[in-house]
Amino acid sequence: MINLSKNTKQPLSLIYLDANATTQVLPQAASAALSTMETLFGNPSSSHITGLQAKQIVDKTRQQAKSIIGADEGKIIFTSGATEGIQTAILSALVNAKATLNKTKSYSLLYGATEHKAVPESLKHWNKILEINAEIKAIPVDEKGQLDMDFIAKEVPNALMICTMAVNNETGVYQDINFLDQTIRANNPNVAWMVDCVQALGKTDLALALTSIDYAAFSGHKLYAPKGIGFMYVKENAPFTPIIAGGGQESGLRSGTENLPGLAALSEIFSMLLGQSEASFTPVKTLHLYRLQLVSALTQAFPEITFNHSFENSVATTLNFAIPGFSSKEIMDLFDAANIRVSSGSACSSKVTRSFVLDAMGLPAWQSESAIRMSFGPAMTQTEIDIACNRIVSAAQALVQSCLTLGTKSIDTHTMNTNSITDKTELEGLVQFKVGGSCSWLYVDKKTQSALFIDPLPEVSERLQTLLTCRGLDLVAVIDTHGHADHESCRNSIAKKLLAEQQSDSLGWPADAQTTNIHGQKYPYIILGDKWLIKIATPGHTDDSISLLLCDPITHSAEKLQVHYAFCGDLILMDSIGRSNFSTSSTPAMYSSLQLMNTLIGKDSLICPSHDYHNEFTTCLETEMTGNSLLRQVMNSEIDIEEFSSKKIKMDKHIIEESGNEIMCGAFTSNLASACQKVVVHEYDSASLTKAVQKSSNMQLIDIREPHEYALQHDEKFTNNVPLTRLVQFVKEQQQDKEQEFVLVCRSGGRSQLAAQALGRLGFENVGHLKGGYALHQY
Ligand code: PLP
Repeated sequence: MINLSKNTKQPLSLIYLDANATTQVLPQAASAALSTMETLFGNPSSSHITGLQAKQIVDKTRQQAKSIIGADEGKIIFTSGATEGIQTAILSALVNAKATLNKTKSYSLLYGATEHKAVPESLKHWNKILEINAEIKAIPVDEKGQLDMDFIAKEVPNALMICTMAVNNETGVYQDINFLDQTIRANNPNVAWMVDCVQALGKTDLALALTSIDYAAFSGHKLYAPKGIGFMYVKENAPFTPIIAGGGQESGLRSGTENLPGLAALSEIFSMLLGQSEASFTPVKTLHLYRLQLVSALTQAFPEITFNHSFENSVATTLNFAIPGFSSKEIMDLFDAANIRVSSGSACSSKVTRSFVLDAMGLPAWQSESAIRMSFGPAMTQTEIDIACNRIVSAAQALVQSCLTLGTKSIDTHTMNTNSITDKTELEGLVQFKVGGSCSWLYVDKKTQSALFIDPLPEVSERLQTLLTCRGLDLVAVIDTHGHADHESCRNSIAKKLLAEQQSDSLGWPADAQTTNIHGQKYPYIILGDKWLIKIATPGHTDDSISLLLCDPITHSAEKLQVHYAFCGDLILMDSIGRSNFSTSSTPAMYSSLQLMNTLIGKDSLICPSHDYHNEFTTCLETEMTGNSLLRQVMNSEIDIEEFSSKKIKMDKHIIEESGNEIMCGAFTSNLASACQKVVVHEYDSASLTKAVQKSSNMQLIDIREPHEYALQHDEKFTNNVPLTRLVQFVKEQQQDKEQEFVLVCRSGGRSQLAAQALGRLGFENVGHLKGGYALHQY
């Protein structure tokens, strides 16, 4: 295991590199907030001394805000945050515009294509509520994230409002405000202009009074003040409509008793920015050096890294990059294990798997899908940056150790002062690679250093080849179970590269295979270590469909096959039987193939299909026949070919409706609802797990994250590591002991729940998981 901290019992200190999402509250800001709760707790509207003291805090903060944003003229209104400021600006501009609308003219509302969602969503909202019916148009950006000035010049004459941002939250890209100002005003002197300044505060100089900006929104929690405090700038005489009416606070522009703790904290931060405090922020010049240091560590750790923005036109505190071959989720998991917090895409929509900002900049899809953002604030210290850089390199080393990357010499030998490369993590047996609902399978025989790849997906081709090189494995064969209709196989390209000498058929079955006799029938087989891989023709889904049985060698024709894994393509899938309405499908052939499999593989051999639509990983005939009545009827010969065909054709008709965007390769059986109903698994929290461990003498605690995450950090009690990619192998090893108690853990409880459900479905009786994972429990 990589030793990141000297004492593994001690959790690693947190390196927080997600300041653009939010920041911690600095101690001096927190203490100012606390004092307004305990001592200076007055209501700024009260006229007694306690009230006057509170009002003084509000007034001081307002004055400071004016200085910081360079707005001697104009108003500062305190809000709950930037989203409220944005709403208020848009409402104000549109209410004003509505009064003078010319019904015969068409209008637009313009916003930058890389704007935070708060902007286009608010525009849509108020445009509809106020029945303005203007066309909402995104202003394109170039590959550097800069707004298209020609578009603005052309469109702004008909615009009621234009919304731009000073600094982008995903890339740190800043706009040339003066050039924007000239372009806007040269073409429309009166249009309302709002600038989202959230990510600019404390990171660039602002002089709003020198511009024609009408509204600007700011947020406290992006700069070390608490959540729930923000402010907006409104240019002198700009139209204004309060969004909240009531007691008349903020001169009637934003009612509601002031958030005094938030304001006191904000005032502390402002004091630091203005040099009025003993504490100070790191100068921008140094922040640039920090970013360079991070860039250098990242490049050393991941030589293939691509940065998604230019450093010339972005603030020093943001880095956005992608690492070829790794999804954002994988890098987030890796960094989380190294206790470095980063984000993928935008934190406000962390479920989104690609970045609309990078899409708008026209970056290639893979960069947008794998984007990682590292951001820090001006309170960052040299020590934290040093630790971050060390950790980044350690994290990359963990990937090298588990053969996900080959690494570089510099990582392998020189840089790891606290960490030394230990042996690569073991790899033997079956590995499952999943891409969406599709699966590829790698089987490794350690003794002979040979490997077999089945149903290769292009997305995992690079990773597989890295793994083979890193472990010095020889590829024996790369085989497709059929010609896939829903995705491209990369079989040919892998075979060309790694098996150039091998003669094979169109699916990759080697021409020099031997034959064996099973129950009087001849089948071809190849040898892999101490196992045989037998090819069985199983047409039905397509006419070329085959199944590959990895089994013990056969010594006698009549003996029962000992099948370890049955790679049966799309013949039998979890909760379904392969689709049979392609041009080369045949339901009678499928009936015979299913019956043949029944006689060859038995009820409990593990089936490894080419799809896993519901995260069930693997199955066996016994499990399938419980939930899949049609399969049961075939296997028990309760129906004949005709009846099977007519039922199957009906089922396949529904497949298009069930498919959605993906071409589904399995027709779900009639009781899909019950088949897909997830097994209920026991959920532990730290307290109940501690109790359960004390009570049970043989409970096994398993960390089911990937080996590189486990190597970086894990709880000592979770002595076993069974990554999800090896779950099927684990099932095989544990199949004889389904009563054993297991508790699974992962980063946040998602993967452990999936694995526990899958094991439960396969008849494991005592599998639970730690709900919320390591994220919520220091178990
Ligand atoms: N605008 C930008 C650029 C942001 O980054 C954010 C927060 O992510 C917001 C607006 C919304 O700010 P708040 O959380 O204060 O409402």
